[in-house]
Amino acid sequence: MDYNATTPVDERVLNAMLPYFNVHFGNAASRTHVFGLKAEEAVDVARKQLARLLGAAANEIAFTSGATESINLALKGAFEANRHRGNHLITVETEHKAVLDTCAHLEKLGAEVTYLTPNTDGLITAEQVAEALQPNTLLVSVMLANNEIGVVQPIADIARLTRERGILFHTDATQAVGKLPIDLAHLPIDLLSLSGHKLYAPKGIGALVVRNKTALIAQQDGGRHERGRRSGTLNVPGIVALGRAAQLAQSCMDDEAARLSALRDRLETDILVAVPGSAVNGSRTQRLPNTTNIRFADVDGELLLMSLNEIAVSNGSACNAASTEPSHVLKALGLPDELAYSSVRFSLGRHSTEADIQTAVEHVKQVVGQLRR
Ligand SMILES: *Cc1c(COP(=O)(O)O)cnc(C)c1O
Repeated sequence: MDYNATTPVDERVLNAMLPYFNVHFGNAASRTHVFGLKAEEAVDVARKQLARLLGAAANEIAFTSGATESINLALKGAFEANRHRGNHLITVETEHKAVLDTCAHLEKLGAEVTYLTPNTDGLITAEQVAEALQPNTLLVSVMLANNEIGVVQPIADIARLTRERGILFHTDATQAVGKLPIDLAHLPIDLLSLSGHKLYAPKGIGALVVRNKTALIAQQDGGRHERGRRSGTLNVPGIVALGRAAQLAQSCMDDEAARLSALRDRLETDILVAVPGSAVNGSRTQRLPNTTNIRFADVDGELLLMSLNEIAVSNGSACNAASTEPSHVLKALGLPDELAYSSVRFSLGRHSTEADIQTAVEHVKQVVGQLRR
């Protein structure tokens, strides 16, 4: 129940990528022989598969090592390329650390950053963004779906607003890709980050979608791969995997969303009924189909996480590897430290079953009861 931290590689994805480790092992930049051409061909197919899932053009996709790199490239690259247009950025307190820490880095380089506070449901509005705009605003970065509470921000409204004002818009769509339909053909988003391992492809592969000839300075110099946006020999097996994972997501997204939201709703309502003093963190309407984050009053958070040893759940984000602080996301929603510590994220995925839900509800009920006694 920790699919938002990472997902297993889908069997079909694994089968698609395996030949590119040894049989078709060529360097996709070797255009002088069949080994390289075969690899390049596979990369082209994957690029189209991913582009199709997002409603983007294939040449707008730049493959990276994951969402952290994509976000760094988007924010640092856009800042560096467009410095003359301004130095003000707008983002949200509930963003992933990859965004927040990159913004903090840019502040040291002279950026001015506004961090919007969400409402108690974890949502911001386009009006909040409009009010924060300054004449020197260069870029707005708002995540599509939150990894800890699953809340989905009003990205379309924000994108329209920024496009009208000629301001760049980046979205960290890592948790949304494959779970929610995204159609860039109808969304004026300039930069979009995503990661393979959140959608049944391996860790270490991701992409940045760079739209409308958005000016970007590469953050890695070298052989000018990926149209000069990201140098480095392409991770062909990883790219093939991401393409296949995108294709699978496209074909099963609707069914999977319906199945998972039904399971998630069962899990959530059964826990709320079985455990007094429990409540859901974040909006229950504008959110991902697979995620719920539940707080438990009157239990020690650390003991709770340690005692829930029959299910794999998390408190906060696995990406916050170095931190024992309470979740910055839950703090931004206004939760006191104790309740932020005693909140648990449940995130379901492709292999979650009805039986898993029953096990989890029973286990949570028993553990919370025991700790309270
Ligand atoms: C996992 C995640 C990231 C980081 O992705 P990596 O590919 O692991 O670097 C960034 N943002 C969100 C919302 C995530 O869930």
